[in-house]
Amino acid sequence: MKVFHLSVECYPVAKVGGLADVVGALPKYQTKLGVDAGVIMPWYDRPFVRDHKFSVIHEGTFYQGSELLNYSVYHEENNTLGFDLYLIKIPGKLDRQEVYCYPDEGEQFIAFQHAILHWFKQEMIIPDLVHCHDHHVGLMPFLMKYSNEYNFLADVKTVATVHNGQYQGWTHWSKAILLPGFDSWKWGLLDWDGVINPLAVLIKCCDAYTTVSEGYLEELYVEANGLQQLFYDERNKSWGIVNGIDWEIWDPQTDYTLAGNYGPANAFEGKLKNKRALAQQYKIDPDLPLLVFIGRFATEKGADLLPDIVSSLTANDPNRLSIFILGAGDPAIQSAIKALIDHGIENFDVFFGYDEKLAHWLYASADFLLMPSRVEPCGLNQLYAMKYGTLPIVHQVGGLKDTVIDLQKDGYGVGFETLDITDIRSAIGRSLQFYENKTEFEGNQHRIMNLDFSWDKSAAKYISLYNQLI
Ligand code: ADP
Repeated sequence: MKVFHLSVECYPVAKVGGLADVVGALPKYQTKLGVDAGVIMPWYDRPFVRDHKFSVIHEGTFYQGSELLNYSVYHEENNTLGFDLYLIKIPGKLDRQEVYCYPDEGEQFIAFQHAILHWFKQEMIIPDLVHCHDHHVGLMPFLMKYSNEYNFLADVKTVATVHNGQYQGWTHWSKAILLPGFDSWKWGLLDWDGVINPLAVLIKCCDAYTTVSEGYLEELYVEANGLQQLFYDERNKSWGIVNGIDWEIWDPQTDYTLAGNYGPANAFEGKLKNKRALAQQYKIDPDLPLLVFIGRFATEKGADLLPDIVSSLTANDPNRLSIFILGAGDPAIQSAIKALIDHGIENFDVFFGYDEKLAHWLYASADFLLMPSRVEPCGLNQLYAMKYGTLPIVHQVGGLKDTVIDLQKDGYGVGFETLDITDIRSAIGRSLQFYENKTEFEGNQHRIMNLDFSWDKSAAKYISLYNQLI
């Protein structure tokens, strides 16, 4: 079975968040299960691309509106990632450093999709299935079925995975001229509330859509930034498949980025070693339990609550725990957190920015990981935390609800029902109490490190979905 994953992120080529982790892992595990799975993504001016050997396997040109675009398809020669990796380069459009936030983003994504279609047509590539990740490639199933030039792909099955339904790629109708010519009777499929909505197009036109957890699927039927009715109406073709973690990258026994490796048997000591090394560089006390937050500074992640959480935890007793925040994003959130640092709170430190190595090190050093997310389609942080023996303290939404069962319900993590500061504090208070009972805490560490959140199971579920469609 020949499958192409289309995505604008893929770890380690270009990562902004969980989308990259999934697209960097799922095809690898599918390949191990016998599927010929490849990834097609934009070309980026990034270290992975500069440091690996690529050959140009195809070149072509097409019109985007009145602009003639030249594109090249690069193939990574050594199968470094365990699957075929293809990059589409278009000078001036797909040759940049960052993944998002360019003013012509919509045009970039249209060009990316058009180049793939053009390449397939020129080389007569007809895969069994095209798997589209998020709205950036949301127009593909429509164009494969209804564009005049590319409807030779109309019978190819398409799967859409929604990693985050909040972002939909809204595009003004004036940009329709940039699309390859399509059957104008079908324009309604492109429309949602008077604009072209690529996520809505994807859900309408795909053969099946999946969300990255079952809990998130249920939530999308109720609230999906305006698309809830659509998700509900199309529910007969929906699947909830929880993400896995790539154990070749996320395993404290082999993770080369750590100050010391450890397994379930010596987790407490191994984590302490990492915490001590961290304390040499950052303002935390290695003798106190360590609570960390890792993530985008976005309201979706509840990062706006962090200043209040930190203030309320440290107001009366700054020597009860250390706190570390790693993140970047909304400048207002960033300056509120910076104000706490300027205030000189003890045993509290922050790294503003994106740092993959530091993230690994924090999962290994921390005793607790806090996730006060308002929305969490799956959430990978809590899965990584558990693999590294760190107790997750999470808001019970979406994938967090599916993957973190509270200690009070015979589970292994700590949950809170509302985003009220008192509720969050009480969850952290419960975690600190639990920490004090060393035998139980270490027993739980052992348990969470052995939970099976592997890709093997989830990759197999995707394959069974593909088989049903094909
Ligand atoms: P998102 O909604 O951001 O995709 P996920 O939980 O699905 O959330 O995935 C987040 C991924 O990004 C994890 O691998 C996490 O470790 C990583 N991450 C988030 N912020 C940072 C950061 N500032 N530095 C390093 N890694 C980060």
